[in-house]
Amino acid sequence: MSFESLGLSPALVRATRERAYLEPTAIQAEAIPVALRGVDVLGCAQTGSGKTAAFALPILEHLAQGRRDRPRRTHALILVPTRELAAQVGDTFRNLAQYLPEPLKIAVLFGGVSINPQMMGLRGGADIVVATPGRLLDLVEHNALKLGEVNTLVLDEADRLLDLGFAEELARVLEELPPRRQNLFFSATFPPAVQSLADQLLRDPVRIQVEAQPQEQPDILQRAIEVDTAKRTPLLRYLIKEQGWSRVLVFVATKYATELVSHKLGLAGIHAQAFHGELSQGARTQVLSDFKASRLQVVVATDVAARGIDVARLPAVVNYDLPRSAVDYTHRIGRTGRAGQSGVAISFVTADAEAHFRLIEKRQGVRVLREQIPGFEPVEAALPVADVNGGIKGKRPSKKDKLRAAALARTGSST
Ligand code: AMP
Repeated sequence: MSFESLGLSPALVRATRERAYLEPTAIQAEAIPVALRGVDVLGCAQTGSGKTAAFALPILEHLAQGRRDRPRRTHALILVPTRELAAQVGDTFRNLAQYLPEPLKIAVLFGGVSINPQMMGLRGGADIVVATPGRLLDLVEHNALKLGEVNTLVLDEADRLLDLGFAEELARVLEELPPRRQNLFFSATFPPAVQSLADQLLRDPVRIQVEAQPQEQPDILQRAIEVDTAKRTPLLRYLIKEQGWSRVLVFVATKYATELVSHKLGLAGIHAQAFHGELSQGARTQVLSDFKASRLQVVVATDVAARGIDVARLPAVVNYDLPRSAVDYTHRIGRTGRAGQSGVAISFVTADAEAHFRLIEKRQGVRVLREQIPGFEPVEAALPVADVNGGIKGKRPSKKDKLRAAALARTGSST
């Protein structure tokens, strides 16, 4: 199948060719013709499936066909959970739009940076707006932007938008939009809150589920290594050297751990950097571009910061600390094995994290063989695991934990 046969104009096909997209991915093959018809889409797609172009191409096609009755009014709004993803989606739009006969203005809006340049950038309007919800609302409140003519709304990574506590902001954004519009809804997972948002938002959607097709599943080998808490950094050092990974993304639980682990790797001569929500946007961009250009071998990140990282040919992800939720696990391991490449996702399972990992396995419907690496065999005893259904004291986030995580998410990714 080719991009031409999906009904895209030559300027867009040329841009896909330039990006070395030889043929549409499964989500693109299914979603593009449907979205071009103007109907709602419910896409169940993992990161790495090519979902960004699956919504960007039909939006650009509509705009290129002159469906903009008045230029520079915002006709397409893409809501994303984090600034990294906003920047990445904005780049995809710009790249794919570059050969269109009429230039389109694409605004990328996210929090954590000064609002003024974004307000200036919106002068004269923008055809396409890619935004995190908090900053978008700030700009609407400042009258920098009007959403009354949006005819296509995209929710990208809807599960993550809700996970990061954006439900209230989303509801407020929806109030600003005209009721008649096309909705394109993408999510990797469909827990009840995401399903109910989709039910509320979508009108007779065409449901597209690509991960059901085995050939399209990212080729990610999941491994779980039992290790004592104090041995994780030496084990990580050993694996980086022994496996010969050109690049590896390491997930930890806190900002402090990003700094500590990257510092310790640095002492061992491994070029590593911390990546967390409190870095300035400039510092984040620098780390990402160094990582993409292979000037940096290891990035040690928190979940919030790492959300939008899209690095082609990332061979490995390590869960130094386990993620809190199965949704985060899916997103973390989805950083590797993207767009047809294979990858490995290794989780360090300490004795007291065993029950939590079982819960993640259960939610994922997988069972990952426990391994031990000679020289790093654990001696700590596993806690008794009586109930893998969530009855593990101290493992489930308390209400306070959730509020804290939501606040962190807001400071780290929006407003
Ligand atoms: P996404 O799921 O949108 O984050 O895309 C994952 C990666 O796949 C990105 O690096 C894209 O540039 C790449 N990609 C998207 N569509 C294609 C395609 N048709 N062929 C090859 N790579 C693609």
